[in-house]
Amino acid sequence: MTDKFYDIVVVGAGIVGAALARELSAYDLKIAVIDRAADIPSGASRANSAMIHAGYDDKPGTLKAALCARGNSLYRELAGPLDITLQNRGSYVCGFDDRDLKHLEILLDQGRSNGVPGLEIIGGDELRSAEPNVSPGIKYALRAPTGCIVNNFEAVLAFMDNAQQNGAELFLETELKGLALSEDGGEVAGAITSRGLFRTRCVVNAAGVDSDLVARMAGDESFSISPTRGEYYIFDKNYGRLVHSFFFPCPTEKGKGITVAPTAENNLLVGPTSEVQESRTDTSTTRRGLDDVAEGARSLVPSITPAMAITTFSGLRASADTGDFVIGPLDSPRGFVNVAGIKSPGFTSAPSIARRVVEMMKDALSDRLTFAPNVSFVPERRHIPRFESLPAEEKARLAAEDPRYAQIVCRCETVTEAQIVEAIRRGARTVAAVKIWTRAGAGRCQGGFCGPRVVAILARELGIPPEEVTRHGGHSRLLVGRTKDYWFKGAGR
Ligand SMILES: Cc1cc2nc3c(=O)[nH]c(=O)nc-3n(C[C@H](O)[C@H](O)[C@H](O)COP(=O)(O)OP(=O)(O)OC[C@H]3O[C@@H](n4cnc5c(N)ncnc54)[C@H](O)[C@@H]3O)c2cc1C
Repeated sequence: MTDKFYDIVVVGAGIVGAALARELSAYDLKIAVIDRAADIPSGASRANSAMIHAGYDDKPGTLKAALCARGNSLYRELAGPLDITLQNRGSYVCGFDDRDLKHLEILLDQGRSNGVPGLEIIGGDELRSAEPNVSPGIKYALRAPTGCIVNNFEAVLAFMDNAQQNGAELFLETELKGLALSEDGGEVAGAITSRGLFRTRCVVNAAGVDSDLVARMAGDESFSISPTRGEYYIFDKNYGRLVHSFFFPCPTEKGKGITVAPTAENNLLVGPTSEVQESRTDTSTTRRGLDDVAEGARSLVPSITPAMAITTFSGLRASADTGDFVIGPLDSPRGFVNVAGIKSPGFTSAPSIARRVVEMMKDALSDRLTFAPNVSFVPERRHIPRFESLPAEEKARLAAEDPRYAQIVCRCETVTEAQIVEAIRRGARTVAAVKIWTRAGAGRCQGGFCGPRVVAILARELGIPPEEVTRHGGHSRLLVGRTKDYWFKGAGR
Protein backbone atom coordinates (compact mmCIF):
# COMPACT_ATOMS: atom_id res chain seq x y z
CA MET A 1 0.00 0.00 0.00
CA THR A 2 1.23 3.52 -0.76
CA ASP A 3 0.78 5.77 2.22
CA LYS A 4 1.36 8.96 0.30
CA PHE A 5 -0.94 11.92 0.61
CA TYR A 6 -2.01 14.00 -2.42
CA ASP A 7 -4.22 17.07 -2.35
CA ILE A 8 -5.82 15.88 -5.61
CA VAL A 9 -5.90 12.55 -7.45
CA VAL A 10 -6.89 12.89 -11.12
CA VAL A 11 -8.21 9.63 -12.58
CA GLY A 12 -7.39 9.40 -16.30
CA ALA A 13 -4.43 10.82 -18.24
CA GLY A 14 -6.23 11.57 -21.49
CA ILE A 15 -6.27 15.12 -22.84
CA VAL A 16 -8.71 16.18 -20.11
CA GLY A 17 -6.74 14.74 -17.17
CA ALA A 18 -3.47 16.01 -18.64
CA ALA A 19 -4.74 19.55 -19.33
CA LEU A 20 -6.28 19.67 -15.85
CA ALA A 21 -3.07 18.41 -14.21
CA ARG A 22 -1.12 21.19 -15.94
CA GLU A 23 -3.65 23.84 -14.90
CA LEU A 24 -3.57 22.58 -11.28
CA SER A 25 0.24 22.47 -11.28
CA ALA A 26 0.22 26.30 -11.39
CA TYR A 27 -0.84 26.06 -7.72
CA ASP A 28 1.04 24.83 -4.70
CA LEU A 29 -0.81 21.49 -4.59
CA LYS A 30 0.36 17.89 -4.46
CA ILE A 31 -1.16 16.24 -7.53
CA ALA A 32 -1.24 12.60 -8.61
CA VAL A 33 -2.55 11.54 -12.03
CA ILE A 34 -3.34 7.84 -12.30
CA ASP A 35 -4.11 5.87 -15.43
CA ARG A 36 -4.59 2.14 -15.82
CA ALA A 37 -2.84 2.17 -19.22
CA ALA A 38 0.91 1.57 -19.65
CA ASP A 39 1.31 4.50 -22.02
CA ILE A 40 -0.54 7.73 -22.70
CA PRO A 41 -2.69 8.75 -24.43
CA SER A 42 -4.61 5.50 -24.43
CA GLY A 43 -8.35 6.22 -24.68
CA ALA A 44 -10.29 8.52 -26.99
CA SER A 45 -7.42 11.00 -26.86
CA ARG A 46 -5.31 8.50 -28.77
CA ALA A 47 -7.79 7.61 -31.51
CA ASN A 48 -9.71 10.59 -32.85
CA SER A 49 -9.82 13.02 -35.78
CA ALA A 50 -7.32 15.45 -34.21
CA MET A 51 -9.41 18.43 -35.22
CA ILE A 52 -9.37 21.57 -33.12
CA HIS A 53 -12.92 22.57 -33.96
CA ALA A 54 -13.89 26.17 -34.58
CA GLY A 55 -16.99 25.84 -32.34
CA TYR A 56 -20.14 26.16 -34.51
CA ASP A 57 -21.47 22.60 -34.02
CA ASP A 58 -23.07 22.89 -30.61
CA LYS A 59 -26.24 24.65 -29.56
CA PRO A 60 -25.67 27.90 -27.67
CA GLY A 61 -26.35 27.37 -23.97
CA THR A 62 -24.65 23.97 -23.79
CA LEU A 63 -21.32 23.39 -22.04
CA LYS A 64 -19.92 22.12 -25.34
CA ALA A 65 -20.77 25.41 -27.05
CA ALA A 66 -19.34 27.47 -24.20
CA LEU A 67 -16.07 25.55 -24.00
CA CYS A 68 -15.22 24.62 -27.61
CA ALA A 69 -14.46 28.02 -29.23
CA ARG A 70 -12.56 29.06 -26.08
CA GLY A 71 -10.58 25.80 -26.25
CA ASN A 72 -9.70 26.58 -29.87
CA SER A 73 -8.22 29.96 -28.90
CA LEU A 74 -6.37 28.44 -25.90
CA TYR A 75 -4.65 25.89 -28.18
CA ARG A 76 -3.37 28.81 -30.30
CA GLU A 77 -1.99 30.45 -27.15
CA LEU A 78 -0.49 27.26 -25.73
CA ALA A 79 0.87 25.49 -28.84
CA GLY A 80 4.05 27.61 -28.88
CA PRO A 81 4.97 27.44 -25.17
CA LEU A 82 4.09 23.73 -24.95
CA ASP A 83 5.68 22.88 -28.33
CA ILE A 84 2.58 21.20 -29.79
CA THR A 85 2.25 20.80 -33.58
CA LEU A 86 -0.88 22.82 -34.46
CA GLN A 87 -1.74 23.83 -38.01
CA ASN A 88 -4.33 26.47 -38.77
CA ARG A 89 -5.70 25.03 -42.03
CA GLY A 90 -9.38 25.93 -41.63
CA SER A 91 -12.34 23.60 -42.13
CA TYR A 92 -15.34 23.26 -44.43
CA VAL A 93 -18.77 21.69 -43.91
CA CYS A 94 -19.98 20.69 -47.37
CA GLY A 95 -23.50 20.91 -48.74
CA PHE A 96 -24.73 19.11 -51.86
CA ASP A 97 -28.20 20.67 -52.22
CA ASP A 98 -30.51 23.37 -50.90
CA ARG A 99 -31.57 21.22 -47.95
CA ASP A 100 -27.92 21.06 -46.89
CA LEU A 101 -27.68 24.83 -47.33
CA LYS A 102 -30.34 25.21 -44.60
CA HIS A 103 -28.11 23.10 -42.29
CA LEU A 104 -25.13 25.29 -43.09
CA GLU A 105 -27.13 28.41 -42.26
CA ILE A 106 -28.08 26.93 -38.88
CA LEU A 107 -24.42 26.13 -38.17
CA LEU A 108 -23.42 29.65 -39.24
CA ASP A 109 -25.94 31.18 -36.79
CA GLN A 110 -24.86 28.82 -34.00
CA GLY A 111 -21.22 29.61 -34.62
CA ARG A 112 -21.84 33.35 -34.50
CA SER A 113 -23.73 32.98 -31.21
CA ASN A 114 -20.86 30.88 -29.85
CA GLY A 115 -18.39 33.65 -30.74
CA VAL A 116 -16.64 31.83 -33.62
CA PRO A 117 -14.82 34.38 -35.81
CA GLY A 118 -14.69 34.55 -39.62
CA LEU A 119 -17.45 32.05 -40.54
CA GLU A 120 -18.90 32.35 -44.06
CA ILE A 121 -20.83 30.25 -46.58
CA ILE A 122 -19.13 30.03 -49.97
CA GLY A 123 -20.11 28.44 -53.29
CA GLY A 124 -18.77 25.11 -54.60
CA ASP A 125 -16.72 26.73 -57.39
CA GLU A 126 -14.95 29.04 -54.96
CA LEU A 127 -14.21 26.02 -52.76
CA ARG A 128 -12.79 24.02 -55.70
CA SER A 129 -10.54 26.90 -56.76
CA ALA A 130 -8.77 26.48 -53.38
CA GLU A 131 -9.25 22.70 -53.07
CA PRO A 132 -9.35 21.20 -56.59
CA ASN A 133 -9.73 17.56 -55.47
CA VAL A 134 -13.09 17.90 -53.73
CA SER A 135 -16.27 16.60 -55.34
CA PRO A 136 -17.83 18.54 -58.22
CA GLY A 137 -21.18 17.79 -56.52
CA ILE A 138 -20.49 20.14 -53.59
CA LYS A 139 -22.63 23.26 -54.07
CA TYR A 140 -22.00 25.16 -50.83
CA ALA A 141 -19.56 25.07 -47.94
CA LEU A 142 -19.42 26.65 -44.50
CA ARG A 143 -15.86 27.90 -44.12
CA ALA A 144 -14.39 28.12 -40.61
CA PRO A 145 -10.96 29.75 -40.83
CA THR A 146 -10.09 29.02 -37.18
CA GLY A 147 -10.36 25.20 -37.52
CA CYS A 148 -6.94 23.65 -36.77
CA ILE A 149 -5.28 20.27 -37.06
CA VAL A 150 -3.31 19.10 -34.02
CA ASN A 151 -0.93 16.26 -33.31
CA ASN A 152 -3.14 14.71 -30.61
CA PHE A 153 -0.35 12.49 -29.19
CA GLU A 154 1.97 15.45 -28.75
CA ALA A 155 -0.78 17.53 -27.15
CA VAL A 156 -1.49 15.00 -24.38
CA LEU A 157 2.23 14.40 -23.78
CA ALA A 158 2.86 18.16 -23.72
CA PHE A 159 0.24 18.96 -21.08
CA MET A 160 1.31 15.97 -18.95
CA ASP A 161 5.04 16.61 -19.41
CA ASN A 162 4.65 20.24 -18.34
CA ALA A 163 2.46 19.24 -15.36
CA GLN A 164 5.20 16.80 -14.29
CA GLN A 165 7.89 19.47 -14.69
CA ASN A 166 5.79 21.55 -12.29
CA GLY A 167 5.55 18.80 -9.69
CA ALA A 168 2.57 16.61 -10.66
CA GLU A 169 3.24 12.86 -10.47
CA LEU A 170 2.01 10.38 -13.09
CA PHE A 171 1.27 6.77 -12.10
CA LEU A 172 0.70 4.47 -15.09
CA GLU A 173 -0.72 0.92 -14.84
CA THR A 174 -2.63 2.17 -11.79
CA GLU A 175 -6.38 1.54 -11.89
CA LEU A 176 -8.94 3.19 -9.63
CA LYS A 177 -10.92 0.41 -7.89
CA GLY A 178 -12.95 2.42 -5.39
CA LEU A 179 -13.05 5.40 -3.07
CA ALA A 180 -12.16 5.57 0.62
CA LEU A 181 -14.64 7.83 2.42
CA SER A 182 -14.70 9.57 5.79
CA GLU A 183 -16.42 7.70 8.64
CA ASP A 184 -19.75 9.41 7.99
CA GLY A 185 -19.42 8.69 4.25
CA GLY A 186 -19.73 12.38 3.40
CA GLU A 187 -16.17 13.15 2.27
CA VAL A 188 -13.52 11.70 -0.01
CA ALA A 189 -10.57 10.37 2.01
CA GLY A 190 -8.67 8.31 -0.55
CA ALA A 191 -8.44 6.65 -3.94
CA ILE A 192 -8.22 2.85 -3.71
CA THR A 193 -6.15 1.64 -6.66
CA SER A 194 -4.53 -1.48 -8.05
CA ARG A 195 -1.32 -0.12 -6.48
CA GLY A 196 -2.78 0.61 -3.07
CA LEU A 197 -4.35 3.59 -1.36
CA PHE A 198 -3.64 7.19 -2.33
CA ARG A 199 -4.81 9.31 0.62
CA THR A 200 -6.40 12.49 -0.74
CA ARG A 201 -8.98 15.21 -0.20
CA CYS A 202 -10.16 15.26 -3.79
CA VAL A 203 -10.67 12.77 -6.62
CA VAL A 204 -11.31 14.09 -10.14
CA ASN A 205 -13.06 11.71 -12.52
CA ALA A 206 -11.55 12.17 -16.01
CA ALA A 207 -11.95 8.51 -16.93
CA GLY A 208 -13.38 8.96 -20.44
CA VAL A 209 -15.56 6.11 -21.64
CA ASP A 210 -15.53 4.65 -18.08
CA SER A 211 -16.35 7.93 -16.35
CA ASP A 212 -19.87 6.70 -15.45
CA LEU A 213 -18.36 3.62 -13.77
CA VAL A 214 -16.00 5.85 -11.76
CA ALA A 215 -18.94 8.13 -10.86
CA ARG A 216 -20.80 5.05 -9.54
CA MET A 217 -17.90 4.52 -7.08
CA ALA A 218 -18.99 7.84 -5.54
CA GLY A 219 -22.65 6.78 -5.62
CA ASP A 220 -23.43 9.10 -8.55
CA GLU A 221 -25.91 7.51 -10.96
CA SER A 222 -26.96 10.73 -12.66
CA PHE A 223 -25.59 9.82 -16.10
CA SER A 224 -24.60 6.82 -18.23
CA ILE A 225 -22.09 6.47 -21.03
CA SER A 226 -22.72 4.66 -24.31
CA PRO A 227 -19.39 3.77 -25.95
CA THR A 228 -19.68 4.89 -29.58
CA ARG A 229 -17.13 3.50 -31.99
CA GLY A 230 -15.53 5.52 -34.77
CA GLU A 231 -13.48 3.65 -37.42
CA TYR A 232 -10.82 5.20 -39.66
CA TYR A 233 -8.46 4.59 -42.55
CA ILE A 234 -5.09 6.28 -42.52
CA PHE A 235 -3.13 6.82 -45.74
CA ASP A 236 0.54 7.32 -46.47
CA LYS A 237 2.03 10.80 -46.32
CA ASN A 238 1.76 11.64 -50.03
CA TYR A 239 -2.02 11.42 -49.81
CA GLY A 240 -2.20 14.22 -47.24
CA ARG A 241 -1.70 16.59 -50.16
CA LEU A 242 -5.09 15.64 -51.66
CA VAL A 243 -6.66 18.29 -49.45
CA HIS A 244 -5.26 21.23 -47.53
CA SER A 245 -8.15 21.72 -45.06
CA PHE A 246 -10.46 19.59 -42.94
CA PHE A 247 -13.69 18.47 -44.73
CA PHE A 248 -17.00 17.51 -43.11
CA PRO A 249 -20.31 16.52 -44.68
CA CYS A 250 -23.46 18.07 -43.18
CA PRO A 251 -23.95 16.66 -39.67
CA THR A 252 -26.72 14.15 -38.95
CA GLU A 253 -28.29 12.98 -35.67
CA LYS A 254 -25.38 10.45 -35.50
CA GLY A 255 -22.75 13.15 -35.41
CA LYS A 256 -20.39 15.14 -37.60
CA GLY A 257 -20.16 12.43 -40.27
CA ILE A 258 -17.28 10.94 -42.22
CA THR A 259 -14.56 13.49 -42.70
CA VAL A 260 -11.49 13.82 -44.92
CA ALA A 261 -8.43 15.62 -43.60
CA PRO A 262 -4.66 15.75 -43.64
CA THR A 263 -2.97 14.95 -40.33
CA ALA A 264 -0.36 17.20 -38.78
CA GLU A 265 2.28 14.97 -40.44
CA ASN A 266 0.53 15.09 -43.84
CA ASN A 267 -0.95 11.60 -43.81
CA LEU A 268 -4.56 11.48 -45.00
CA LEU A 269 -7.15 10.53 -42.36
CA VAL A 270 -10.67 9.47 -43.31
CA GLY A 271 -13.47 8.51 -40.93
CA PRO A 272 -15.03 8.07 -38.40
CA THR A 273 -18.16 5.93 -38.34
CA SER A 274 -20.50 6.25 -35.37
CA GLU A 275 -21.82 2.98 -33.89
CA VAL A 276 -23.05 2.57 -30.32
CA GLN A 277 -21.75 -0.67 -28.77
CA GLU A 278 -21.82 -2.51 -25.44
CA SER A 279 -18.09 -3.05 -25.07
CA ARG A 280 -15.98 -0.34 -23.43
CA THR A 281 -12.76 -1.83 -24.76
CA ASP A 282 -13.37 -3.24 -28.26
CA THR A 283 -11.56 -0.95 -30.71
CA SER A 284 -11.36 -3.36 -33.63
CA THR A 285 -12.30 -2.24 -37.13
CA THR A 286 -14.94 -3.96 -39.24
CA ARG A 287 -15.44 -4.58 -42.95
CA ARG A 288 -18.81 -2.81 -42.86
CA GLY A 289 -17.48 0.17 -40.94
CA LEU A 290 -14.53 0.63 -43.27
CA ASP A 291 -16.77 0.32 -46.34
CA ASP A 292 -18.93 3.11 -44.91
CA VAL A 293 -15.79 5.19 -44.32
CA ALA A 294 -14.63 4.70 -47.91
CA GLU A 295 -18.04 5.59 -49.32
CA GLY A 296 -18.38 8.69 -47.12
CA ALA A 297 -14.86 9.85 -47.96
CA ARG A 298 -15.39 9.41 -51.71
CA SER A 299 -18.51 11.58 -51.60
CA LEU A 300 -16.25 14.46 -50.49
CA VAL A 301 -13.05 13.57 -52.39
CA PRO A 302 -13.85 11.10 -55.22
CA SER A 303 -10.24 10.03 -55.92
CA ILE A 304 -9.75 8.41 -52.47
CA THR A 305 -9.22 4.66 -52.76
CA PRO A 306 -8.82 2.46 -49.66
CA ALA A 307 -6.24 0.28 -51.43
CA MET A 308 -3.69 2.98 -50.63
CA ALA A 309 -4.37 2.96 -46.87
CA ILE A 310 -1.47 2.00 -44.59
CA THR A 311 -3.57 1.04 -41.57
CA THR A 312 -6.96 1.26 -39.88
CA PHE A 313 -7.94 2.05 -36.30
CA SER A 314 -10.94 2.97 -34.20
CA GLY A 315 -11.69 5.02 -31.09
CA LEU A 316 -14.54 5.04 -28.57
CA ARG A 317 -16.51 8.20 -27.84
CA ALA A 318 -17.81 8.65 -24.29
CA SER A 319 -21.40 9.58 -25.25
CA ALA A 320 -23.30 10.67 -22.11
CA ASP A 321 -27.10 10.28 -22.01
CA THR A 322 -27.31 13.92 -20.84
CA GLY A 323 -26.22 14.99 -24.34
CA ASP A 324 -23.58 17.32 -22.89
CA PHE A 325 -20.32 17.26 -20.91
CA VAL A 326 -20.86 16.33 -17.24
CA ILE A 327 -18.67 18.73 -15.26
CA GLY A 328 -18.73 19.67 -11.59
CA PRO A 329 -18.27 18.62 -7.96
CA LEU A 330 -20.76 16.38 -6.13
CA ASP A 331 -22.40 17.65 -2.93
CA SER A 332 -21.70 14.24 -1.41
CA PRO A 333 -19.16 12.82 -1.06
CA ARG A 334 -17.45 16.21 -0.88
CA GLY A 335 -14.22 16.25 -2.79
CA PHE A 336 -15.44 14.19 -5.77
CA VAL A 337 -15.46 16.07 -9.10
CA ASN A 338 -16.82 14.80 -12.43
CA VAL A 339 -15.19 15.78 -15.72
CA ALA A 340 -17.11 13.08 -17.52
CA GLY A 341 -18.83 12.24 -20.79
CA ILE A 342 -16.28 14.30 -22.69
CA LYS A 343 -17.04 13.34 -26.28
CA SER A 344 -16.36 15.54 -29.31
CA PRO A 345 -15.47 18.42 -29.20
CA GLY A 346 -13.71 17.24 -26.05
CA PHE A 347 -10.18 17.32 -27.40
CA THR A 348 -10.69 20.92 -28.49
CA SER A 349 -12.38 21.90 -25.25
CA ALA A 350 -9.86 20.28 -22.88
CA PRO A 351 -7.84 23.44 -22.05
CA SER A 352 -11.00 25.45 -21.36
CA ILE A 353 -12.56 22.53 -19.45
CA ALA A 354 -9.42 22.49 -17.28
CA ARG A 355 -9.76 26.21 -16.51
CA ARG A 356 -13.48 25.87 -15.80
CA VAL A 357 -12.91 22.91 -13.44
CA VAL A 358 -10.20 24.75 -11.49
CA GLU A 359 -12.56 27.73 -11.03
CA MET A 360 -15.32 25.35 -9.84
CA MET A 361 -12.92 23.68 -7.41
CA LYS A 362 -11.81 27.04 -6.03
CA ASP A 363 -15.46 27.94 -5.39
CA ALA A 364 -16.81 24.64 -4.13
CA LEU A 365 -13.82 23.10 -2.32
CA SER A 366 -12.16 26.10 -0.66
CA ASP A 367 -12.51 24.39 2.75
CA ARG A 368 -10.55 21.34 1.44
CA LEU A 369 -7.97 22.83 -0.95
CA THR A 370 -5.82 25.97 -0.82
CA PHE A 371 -5.04 27.46 -4.22
CA ALA A 372 -1.79 29.34 -3.44
CA PRO A 373 0.33 29.99 -6.55
CA ASN A 374 3.17 27.59 -7.35
CA VAL A 375 5.98 30.15 -7.32
CA SER A 376 8.28 27.92 -9.38
CA PHE A 377 5.66 27.21 -12.10
CA VAL A 378 7.28 27.03 -15.56
CA PRO A 379 4.69 27.43 -18.35
CA GLU A 380 6.89 26.11 -21.21
CA ARG A 381 8.37 22.78 -22.26
CA ARG A 382 10.04 21.44 -25.40
CA HIS A 383 9.22 18.25 -27.28
CA ILE A 384 11.93 15.78 -28.37
CA PRO A 385 13.60 17.26 -31.51
CA ARG A 386 11.55 16.32 -34.59
CA PHE A 387 14.60 15.22 -36.56
CA GLU A 388 12.81 14.60 -39.88
CA SER A 389 11.59 18.18 -40.23
CA LEU A 390 14.77 19.95 -39.10
CA PRO A 391 16.91 21.92 -41.58
CA ALA A 392 20.05 20.07 -42.80
CA GLU A 393 22.44 22.25 -40.74
CA GLU A 394 20.49 21.55 -37.55
CA LYS A 395 20.55 17.79 -38.31
CA ALA A 396 24.31 17.97 -38.82
CA ARG A 397 24.77 19.94 -35.58
CA LEU A 398 22.76 17.40 -33.56
CA ALA A 399 24.64 14.45 -35.12
CA ALA A 400 28.00 16.10 -34.32
CA GLU A 401 26.91 16.61 -30.69
CA ASP A 402 25.44 13.12 -30.28
CA PRO A 403 26.29 10.43 -32.89
CA ARG A 404 23.04 8.63 -32.04
CA TYR A 405 21.31 11.36 -34.12
CA ALA A 406 23.14 9.87 -37.12
CA GLN A 407 21.61 6.43 -36.50
CA ILE A 408 18.25 6.24 -38.32
CA VAL A 409 16.10 3.59 -36.65
CA CYS A 410 12.72 4.22 -38.34
CA ARG A 411 13.29 4.84 -42.05
CA CYS A 412 9.68 5.69 -42.91
CA GLU A 413 9.53 8.58 -40.40
CA THR A 414 13.30 9.29 -40.15
CA VAL A 415 13.44 8.70 -36.40
CA THR A 416 16.90 8.46 -34.87
CA GLU A 417 18.26 6.41 -31.98
CA ALA A 418 18.84 9.62 -29.99
CA GLN A 419 15.13 10.51 -30.15
CA ILE A 420 14.15 7.04 -28.93
CA VAL A 421 16.63 7.19 -26.05
CA GLU A 422 15.25 10.62 -25.09
CA ALA A 423 11.66 9.28 -25.20
CA ILE A 424 12.68 6.50 -22.80
CA ARG A 425 14.39 9.06 -20.55
CA ARG A 426 11.10 10.98 -20.45
CA GLY A 427 9.10 7.92 -19.41
CA ALA A 428 8.35 5.74 -22.48
CA ARG A 429 8.42 2.09 -21.37
CA THR A 430 6.72 0.26 -24.25
CA VAL A 431 6.99 0.01 -28.04
CA ALA A 432 3.67 1.89 -28.30
CA ALA A 433 4.96 4.69 -26.05
CA VAL A 434 8.09 5.08 -28.21
CA LYS A 435 5.82 5.37 -31.27
CA ILE A 436 3.64 7.97 -29.52
CA TRP A 437 6.66 10.07 -28.52
CA THR A 438 8.73 9.77 -31.71
CA ARG A 439 6.55 8.28 -34.54
CA ALA A 440 8.95 5.30 -34.87
CA GLY A 441 6.66 2.65 -36.40
CA ALA A 442 3.95 5.10 -37.51
CA GLY A 443 4.97 5.11 -41.18
CA ARG A 444 4.26 3.05 -44.26
CA CYS A 445 5.80 -0.20 -42.95
CA GLN A 446 4.05 0.19 -39.56
CA GLY A 447 7.12 -0.90 -37.59
CA GLY A 448 8.01 -3.89 -39.79
CA PHE A 449 11.57 -2.60 -40.18
CA CYS A 450 12.24 -0.66 -36.97
CA GLY A 451 10.19 -2.77 -34.51
CA PRO A 452 13.05 -5.16 -33.52
CA ARG A 453 15.50 -2.25 -33.15
CA VAL A 454 13.07 -0.35 -30.94
CA VAL A 455 12.71 -3.48 -28.76
CA ALA A 456 16.52 -3.77 -28.52
CA ILE A 457 16.93 -0.09 -27.55
CA LEU A 458 14.15 -0.32 -24.94
CA ALA A 459 15.77 -3.47 -23.45
CA ARG A 460 19.21 -1.84 -23.36
CA GLU A 461 18.05 1.48 -21.86
CA LEU A 462 15.69 -0.11 -19.31
CA GLY A 463 18.21 -2.82 -18.40
CA ILE A 464 15.75 -5.67 -19.02
CA PRO A 465 15.87 -8.74 -21.30
CA PRO A 466 14.26 -8.12 -24.75
CA GLU A 467 11.64 -10.79 -23.90
CA GLU A 468 10.30 -8.47 -21.19
CA VAL A 469 9.68 -5.55 -23.55
CA THR A 470 5.95 -5.16 -24.24
CA ARG A 471 3.92 -3.57 -27.00
CA HIS A 472 1.64 -1.68 -24.59
CA GLY A 473 2.19 -3.08 -21.10
CA GLY A 474 0.52 -5.99 -19.28
CA HIS A 475 0.79 -9.28 -21.14
CA SER A 476 1.57 -7.78 -24.54
CA ARG A 477 5.12 -9.20 -24.78
CA LEU A 478 6.51 -9.33 -28.30
CA LEU A 479 9.13 -12.08 -27.88
CA VAL A 480 8.68 -15.45 -26.18
CA GLY A 481 12.34 -16.43 -25.92
CA ARG A 482 15.51 -17.01 -27.93
CA THR A 483 15.18 -18.92 -31.21
CA LYS A 484 18.35 -20.83 -30.28
CA ASP A 485 16.76 -22.19 -27.07
CA TYR A 486 13.63 -23.27 -28.91
CA TRP A 487 15.66 -24.88 -31.71
CA PHE A 488 17.75 -26.94 -29.27
CA LYS A 489 14.68 -27.98 -27.25
CA GLY A 490 12.94 -29.05 -30.47
CA ALA A 491 16.04 -30.89 -31.76
CA GLY A 492 16.45 -32.77 -28.45
CA ARG A 493 12.99 -34.32 -28.69
C1 LIG B 1 -13.67 8.65 -33.15
C2 LIG B 1 -13.48 9.92 -32.38
C3 LIG B 1 -13.23 11.14 -33.03
C4 LIG B 1 -13.08 12.31 -32.31
N1 LIG B 1 -12.68 13.45 -32.95
C5 LIG B 1 -12.48 14.58 -32.23
C6 LIG B 1 -11.99 15.76 -32.85
O1 LIG B 1 -11.63 15.77 -34.03
N2 LIG B 1 -11.89 16.89 -32.11
C7 LIG B 1 -12.25 16.92 -30.80
O2 LIG B 1 -12.18 17.98 -30.19
N3 LIG B 1 -12.66 15.80 -30.17
C8 LIG B 1 -12.76 14.64 -30.85
N4 LIG B 1 -13.16 13.49 -30.22
C9 LIG B 1 -13.42 13.53 -28.80
C10 LIG B 1 -12.13 13.51 -28.00
O3 LIG B 1 -11.24 12.55 -28.50
C11 LIG B 1 -12.47 13.21 -26.55
O4 LIG B 1 -13.46 14.12 -26.13
C12 LIG B 1 -11.29 13.35 -25.63
O5 LIG B 1 -10.17 12.68 -26.13
C13 LIG B 1 -11.68 12.79 -24.27
O6 LIG B 1 -10.58 12.89 -23.42
P1 LIG B 1 -10.65 12.28 -21.97
O7 LIG B 1 -9.36 12.64 -21.32
O8 LIG B 1 -11.93 12.69 -21.31
O9 LIG B 1 -10.79 10.70 -22.17
P2 LIG B 1 -9.71 9.60 -22.65
O10 LIG B 1 -8.75 10.14 -23.61
O11 LIG B 1 -10.51 8.42 -23.06
O12 LIG B 1 -8.90 9.27 -21.32
C14 LIG B 1 -9.51 8.60 -20.24
C15 LIG B 1 -8.40 7.85 -19.51
O13 LIG B 1 -8.95 7.33 -18.31
C16 LIG B 1 -8.31 6.09 -18.05
N5 LIG B 1 -9.18 5.34 -17.12
C17 LIG B 1 -10.46 4.95 -17.30
N6 LIG B 1 -10.91 4.31 -16.20
C18 LIG B 1 -9.88 4.30 -15.31
C19 LIG B 1 -9.72 3.77 -13.99
N7 LIG B 1 -10.73 3.14 -13.35
N8 LIG B 1 -8.52 3.92 -13.38
C20 LIG B 1 -7.48 4.55 -14.00
N9 LIG B 1 -7.58 5.06 -15.26
C21 LIG B 1 -8.77 4.94 -15.90
C22 LIG B 1 -8.17 5.46 -19.42
O14 LIG B 1 -7.14 4.48 -19.44
C23 LIG B 1 -7.85 6.67 -20.30
O15 LIG B 1 -6.47 6.84 -20.48
C24 LIG B 1 -13.25 12.29 -30.91
C25 LIG B 1 -13.47 11.08 -30.25
C26 LIG B 1 -13.54 9.90 -30.97
C27 LIG B 1 -13.66 8.59 -30.25
